[in-house]
Amino acid sequence: MRLTDKFGRQITDLRISVTDRCNFRCVYCRSANPENHMSSASLLTWDEYVRLARIMVPMGIRKVRVTGGEPLVRAGVEDFVAQLKSVGVEDVSMTTNGYLLAERCDRLVAAGMNRINISLDSLDRERFERITRTKTFDAVIAGIDAAQASALRPVKVNAVLVRGINDDEVEAFAEFARDRDLIMRFIEYMPLDADRSWTRESVVTGAEVLRRISARWPMVPIAHERSETARKYRFADGRGEIGLISPVSQPFCGHCSRIRMTADGKLRTCLFSKEDHDLKPFLRGGASDGEIAAEIISIVSEKEKSHRINEPDFVPPSRTMVSIGG
Ligand code: SAM
Repeated sequence: MRLTDKFGRQITDLRISVTDRCNFRCVYCRSANPENHMSSASLLTWDEYVRLARIMVPMGIRKVRVTGGEPLVRAGVEDFVAQLKSVGVEDVSMTTNGYLLAERCDRLVAAGMNRINISLDSLDRERFERITRTKTFDAVIAGIDAAQASALRPVKVNAVLVRGINDDEVEAFAEFARDRDLIMRFIEYMPLDADRSWTRESVVTGAEVLRRISARWPMVPIAHERSETARKYRFADGRGEIGLISPVSQPFCGHCSRIRMTADGKLRTCLFSKEDHDLKPFLRGGASDGEIAAEIISIVSEKEKSHRINEPDFVPPSRTMVSIGG
């Protein structure tokens, strides 16, 4: 039985958050104040995530992205990647802040990981430190170096642009992509921050980013799969690529192929779902694989038509990005 929702969208991508803990405290994501973390007993075990993946692969899940929180802070994530590959996940990737990547990259590659996304919100050291509230700029750049020197492909670097914080760096990020021959992706700021300081005015749209980069370098559109989040462009005169992820200004819900598992075992059919669905009672209550599969099919069939960010009655979800898994 294929995982399909009532609008006919086939679900092929699963994002698994393996922790809500993070060694960064990015201003557009987390609060400066201490937050409550999920207790370790409430987190799924590696075996429980693997069991869910094993159940979902025959239902059409081909891609799994491991995320968090920061996935590299949970010990054992390399073995988890290897287990995901061994249960038949075709494409395993990770989203990381890159801080621990240089020392872990070889083990991730050996485990069979296919590709990686690294977050980098400023090329200016001091500004990077202000945004992340850490002093880790060199380590993150070393992480990007390690990824590019490894077998992981493609290497994508993600920047969330926030007006007044880092929107003056669009062209510098484009240069970074050209110099390093990598994919630089610009993500629109979404109302998922812990401080609830998101405003529509703080969003830097993909259209603005394309206009500004195209004013400097001729850009050529690249074909993309319907379900891909990014609109992609290459530089006509050289190396590098950019991707525009515009969930606020140009929602791509109509072709969404994603579902998410939170670190504590809640299945979410949309980043902005009002409710999530706890699979832990099934996993820990003796349910069979068939019963769990039936529950997942029924949850996915009710996937939301769209995220509704632009509707007048939109209310942000109670969970913030770090506790959903980005
Ligand atoms: N720790 C990892 C990292 O930094 O990439 C993975 C988790 S993080 C929550 C995943 C992605 O979500 C990052 O690229 C981050 O920049 C992005 N993100 C966090 N808060 C966001 C927000 N309010 N709007 C848009 N993207 C956000």
